[in-house]
Amino acid sequence: MWKHPATHTRQLSNATGTPMILLIDWVRAGKFPSTYNQLDYPCESCQSSIYAGRLCHSCLGTFRTAALDIQTRIPRRTVAGLFSIAGRAKSY
Ligand SMILES: [Zn+2]
Repeated sequence: MWKHPATHTRQLSNATGTPMILLIDWVRAGKFPSTYNQLDYPCESCQSSIYAGRLCHSCLGTFRTAALDIQTRIPRRTVAGLFSIAGRAKSY
């Protein structure tokens, strides 16, 4: 298997008789050299084939948007809360 760095995970599984799930575990754990950049594994969200990270590009986009949404919402609320406390403190 080490002779074919451009192999895909499924081909590697067929060639070595190693279950896909085990290979995917190994790929995720980084047990293959980075030269094996064709080893794909399912996105943790939508199961489409990816080669890096934990999510495919479209899911990453969705998650990034959601994360940004949360990031922009929480500080605003905190700032508003601080202002209302400050305003109350002044009136005393
Ligand atoms: Zn995905």
